[in-house]
Amino acid sequence: MTVRKIVKYGTPSLREKSKEVHKISKKVQILVDDLYDTLYASNGVGLAAPQIGENLRIFVIDTGTDPKTMNPITFINPKILKLEGAINSYEGCLSFPDAYTNVRRYKYVKVKATDIKGKPFILEAKDGSLLARAIQHEFDHLDGILFIDHCRNRFEADKVLTEKGLNPIEADYLLDEKELEDEIQKNPQKEEPKD
Ligand code: ZN
Repeated sequence: MTVRKIVKYGTPSLREKSKEVHKISKKVQILVDDLYDTLYASNGVGLAAPQIGENLRIFVIDTGTDPKTMNPITFINPKILKLEGAINSYEGCLSFPDAYTNVRRYKYVKVKATDIKGKPFILEAKDGSLLARAIQHEFDHLDGILFIDHCRNRFEADKVLTEKGLNPIEADYLLDEKELEDEIQKNPQKEEPKD
């Protein structure tokens, strides 16, 4: 049981591509336990290994809101199989304390990964659910991509980052998502802030 220190935006390792896990060793099991301990201690929805300083392709998600609805899912060496649709997502990140902004996400995601016992599984998340958006957010961390790279309004995002005392947008990392943006604008939905 260890709550680890969360790596904050501006730390170069958050921009690195993480390495595949070759064996679910004791060390990997401890790392996954630490991810959950740190996630729950921070009241987050998801946490990726690079956020606690380990550049390995692992993340955990729990969209449950209380002990009764807990739903921990561990993703080791995840692969995205399919992405569809487009949706606005109001997001934050444990590496960006208190900074939230609107980003572009796919509505549907199908992912393949290995669980902590080494068993492969396939998971689908639909309708722009919190799970669907969290999978995309956490998966990105394994490739050094951060949620602000998907921001819909760079100036709004920059303003929030500055207000929270964080580094400004890293322009070189901004993603060209014109098609996703067009689709979001074609199908506007109610923008619901999430925790
Ligand atoms: Zn994050």
